[in-house]
Amino acid sequence: MQVFEIFPSLQGEGRNQGLRCCFLRLAGCNLNCRWCDTPDARNPDAGEDLTTDDILRRIEETGIRYLCVTGGEPLLRQHELLPLLRDLSSNGYIIDIETNGTIPFGQVQPYASICMDVKCPSSGEQSDLRLLADIRATDSVKCVVADEADLDFAYEQIRSIPIRGEIYISPVHGSDYTRIAEVVMEWNLPVRLQLQLHKQIGVQ
Ligand code: SF4
Repeated sequence: MQVFEIFPSLQGEGRNQGLRCCFLRLAGCNLNCRWCDTPDARNPDAGEDLTTDDILRRIEETGIRYLCVTGGEPLLRQHELLPLLRDLSSNGYIIDIETNGTIPFGQVQPYASICMDVKCPSSGEQSDLRLLADIRATDSVKCVVADEADLDFAYEQIRSIPIRGEIYISPVHGSDYTRIAEVVMEWNLPVRLQLQLHKQIGVQ
């Protein structure tokens, strides 16, 4: 499997925000978001080709039993990923998978919580909103917002599509947090505003 990097840090987003976390970042992505914060990981050949055993060993070496699989778009490699997920899940690991919301995730859901992006207009990309029907109560959805157009788009989707998991509104790093907070407070919607903790405290 082509792995961009494996590293220990703090989870900066989602329901496990603030927990020590081992990140497994896979190489390659099928989108090209304007504000992508991991552009080097979009290259499918970046990093190194590791076996499942190599990856398991490196994860175990961190001593952290909470894994976040991210990218790039990790579900491009979900068939390679499945044996790893089965092994870690059966050994009691908590696993999150961050996905851009363009690839069905039913195969990995038995082993992991899904954190699905809903891409907003400022990204220049689109998620497949039909996938929101497969979000469970233990999964979550994230709308990264940069401006009023993004907020309007997020509001319309959240208002009109039933979503079972938690919904996060996540301002793009350096955007107008105060204005975004004001708008979100005006909504009568079950969402949670969340700043990316790792960027606030300056860790990877
Ligand atoms: S989906 Fe994620 S990795 Fe891919 S371009 Fe967008 S932000 Fe970057």
